[in-house]
Amino acid sequence: MTIGPNTRLATLLGNPVEHSFSPIIHNTAYQVLALDALYLARAVTTADLAAAVEGLKALRFMGANVTIPFKERIIELTDRMTDEAAAIGAVNTLIFRRVGDDVTIIGDNTDVTGFLAPLQPHQEWLAGGRIVILGAGGAARAVLYGSVMSLSPSEVLVAARRSEQAESLISDLKQHAGTARLSATGLLNVGRHIRDADLVVNTTPVGMYPDIDASPWQDPDAFHQDQIVYDLIYNPVSTRLLKEASARGAIVINGIEMLIGQAAAAHVLWTGLRMPVDEVREVLIKTVGALRNP
Ligand code: NAP
Repeated sequence: MTIGPNTRLATLLGNPVEHSFSPIIHNTAYQVLALDALYLARAVTTADLAAAVEGLKALRFMGANVTIPFKERIIELTDRMTDEAAAIGAVNTLIFRRVGDDVTIIGDNTDVTGFLAPLQPHQEWLAGGRIVILGAGGAARAVLYGSVMSLSPSEVLVAARRSEQAESLISDLKQHAGTARLSATGLLNVGRHIRDADLVVNTTPVGMYPDIDASPWQDPDAFHQDQIVYDLIYNPVSTRLLKEASARGAIVINGIEMLIGQAAAAHVLWTGLRMPVDEVREVLIKTVGALRNP
């Protein structure tokens, strides 16, 4: 593909951006679809963030992803936010919607769609079920919001090493809970709840490369075949948590699926096209594997 004046552009804005997989995901999709499009990754300073967004608008970028440390700060630079972004209080995707000469900057949070994507085949089975979320940081917000909005759980327990963080997350999102009962606890008190859960989601970084022998849950015999265990970590693709849960018959879902799901949601917002997720997954798994075994 030759880059030219009509090439459609998107970028990641963050600091740092060097370790992001977003360029690989999006550029693979553009190649597979033979789209005249290019995805960049630019590190910007806080002082330059507003100018960077204005520049993208002026240069007719179709959109941008936003990562650490700007997911909250970017909000004031948007014209409006989607319900997901407003509820979570964080934006990971900008869409520049152009009508004539007018451009509206929409802030979205596609982590919600990304989290839910691999659960779609299990949605009916999960309805009325019990969900345990380990960790209560940024990703847990998207997981809790997605869970109560789309999985119709009867109960969601958020377990964090600082239980006050879990309480604060619940307090922020309880207005969206509907009939689901939300509760918070310390990570060490979650024992029997793991056994009783239909879905366990790890949103902590415990088990992430290079600490691949670590696990956020120390009693693997709690896992069984009538549950789904979902780890948001994507490096390694199969964490110790997932290996232990899988060995006991649980259905396991790795973080690559959410990573692709959030990108696929941004891709459709920018291009109107479906992302070729199978091809993207193949490239991504090879890339993540090669990082640890160069
Ligand atoms: P975050 O905002 O820093 O939140 C991390 C949470 O884990 C916090 O509750 C934190 O508690 C807890 N935690 C950290 N270290 C811990 C430890 N050693 N033991 C117990 N709890 C611990 O991070 P995040 O943005 O939510 O990301 C969390 C993980 O999800 C990362 O591994 C990230 O790569 C992954 N993620 C994946 C995707 C995807 O698309 N697959 C998307 C987003 C995030 P404290 O506040 O007490 O430290």
